[in-house]
Amino acid sequence: YDAKRTGVPTRLYSSELRRRATAQLQLHGALRRALAREEMHLAYQPVLDLVDGGIVAFEALMRWDNPQLGRVPPSRFIPAAEETGLIIELGDWALAAAAAQGRRWADLGAPVAVAVNISSRQLADAALPARVERIVADAGLDPEYLVIEITETALIEHDEQAARSLSALSDLGAAIALDDFGTGYSSFARLRRLPIGIIKIDREFVAGLGADPDADAIVTAMVGLAQGLGLLVTAEGVETPEQLSALSELGCTHVQGHLLGRPQSAAEATRTLLNQSALPPG
Ligand code: C2E
Ligand code: MG
Ligand code: MG
Ligand code: MG
Repeated sequence: YDAKRTGVPTRLYSSELRRRATAQLQLHGALRRALAREEMHLAYQPVLDLVDGGIVAFEALMRWDNPQLGRVPPSRFIPAAEETGLIIELGDWALAAAAAQGRRWADLGAPVAVAVNISSRQLADAALPARVERIVADAGLDPEYLVIEITETALIEHDEQAARSLSALSDLGAAIALDDFGTGYSSFARLRRLPIGIIKIDREFVAGLGADPDADAIVTAMVGLAQGLGLLVTAEGVETPEQLSALSELGCTHVQGHLLGRPQSAAEATRTLLNQSALPPG
């Protein structure tokens, strides 16, 4: 921008820039200390089998509560963690915490998968699979109960390393889910070439179901693609009974969203899990 030509007084303009830069520095500084100060925790959102309604997994979602900044949403601190490289440390922490929780659920006799989000920079790190292997072993979690969620963008940014890392993670026994499907650019060839077992339809498309013919067509095509390739398909952001029944008719296999369960504390998630397994079969 040319501050003079847009009519913004230069002094105000630069003070606004300075304010933003200061805020960003404050965020980075606070983020750097967040783990040591135990300001991070994971919330767990259930993923349900659409046929029998049972919980098959919990997605671990990072939460940050800072005394000065309040609750900072992941949409703000995950990009900051990526920029600063702190995502590696935070990502390892999330993997370890989720794996430990997965182990606790198995110990309670209610084994369920834990899904952990991995960002672009983590996927670019060639040492990731070895660290995941160690983290899961330290937690005593059967790797079959780990799901790694990656985005299309991460795949495209690090094509070759991503392919190697995903193969190694898949060889460990972890399942790979392609998150926010439809918002980025995934070629069908890539879906076949990589060991992806689950696609997660972004809530942007789920939101339009039954109201927007384009959304109906897109979700129908995505579910058809998943079925054709033998993949599981989870619809994200399911908020209404109408969306749920539309997804059921289309043959979607799994659902996740506020209608079925919000992200919740580990203790609440445990109660949710144990209550449903106490239900009589059928
Ligand atoms: P995501 O992996 O696609 O996670 C789903 C997001 O949708 C979560 O937002 C969840 O709270 C929200 N959500 C679930 N059901 C509904 C619904 O019915 N309606 C609406 N409106 N929203 C719903 P959240 O927790 O704010 O996380 C946002 C994003 O931040 C995640 O998107 C993920 O990309 C990233 N993220 C969160 N935790 C981690 C993490 O530990 N590591 C990394 N790398 N990224 C993370
Ligand atoms: Mg996710
Ligand atoms: Mg998603
Ligand atoms: Mg999303």
